[in-house]
Amino acid sequence: MIIVAIDGPAGAGKSTIAKALAEKLNLRYLDTGAMYRAVTFAALTRNVQLHDESAVAEIARRSVLMIDDDSIVIDGVDATAAIRGAEVTRSVSVVATNSLVRTELRNRQRQWVSEHGGGVVEGRDIGSVVFPDATLKVYLTASPIVRARRRVAQSGGDVQQIAAEIAERDQRDSSRSDSPLMKTVDSITVDTSDRAIEDVVAQLKQLIADNSANGEFVA
Ligand code: C5P
Repeated sequence: MIIVAIDGPAGAGKSTIAKALAEKLNLRYLDTGAMYRAVTFAALTRNVQLHDESAVAEIARRSVLMIDDDSIVIDGVDATAAIRGAEVTRSVSVVATNSLVRTELRNRQRQWVSEHGGGVVEGRDIGSVVFPDATLKVYLTASPIVRARRRVAQSGGDVQQIAAEIAERDQRDSSRSDSPLMKTVDSITVDTSDRAIEDVVAQLKQLIADNSANGEFVA
């Protein structure tokens, strides 16, 4: 079973590269950030205080989450567009510090992978905590200004302001006590600042092929 873990900060290119790699490998793709965003969306729309850990965890546990490559539906509500909005983006890293939520979503991520016979999974703690034995662990990064510009190209806004928001979210994601964003010793770091998507995807595909040929992965 092939599991590719792709972690890294916001705007590093994780979704684009994970999707393209999954297609090349004929695997399914899972965006775990979308799961945290969906729980945040549900809490905001139900007026649940984000700092009320047990109430937010209850949403995570009880919700019916349907996620595929192009959409996410939580308890029958299509949240595909709303989870990318400014309010969810500002609030999601607070929900992501909630260990009860993390435990629930981690279980669902493992279940998803076992049901789909592997996959390309992107997030913050995939190689470190969710799938420590992944076939390949990638830490994708890019310079802060490149990451901010990419976000602006996607959703508009002011580059300086978006850069500040990204820095704040990365800081929260890297400093939380439960499964922070981190580079593991056995992950390959790929800086996507000046690289074409196809080039990065081809490199990762080659690493997986080498790994399969050797029976072991050498970083
Ligand atoms: O990847 P994306 O930017 O959509 O992730 C949104 C947020 O979800 C991250 O900033 C982080 O707080 C949280 N997250 C997480 N663990 C993951 C994936 C996302 O904590 N595996």
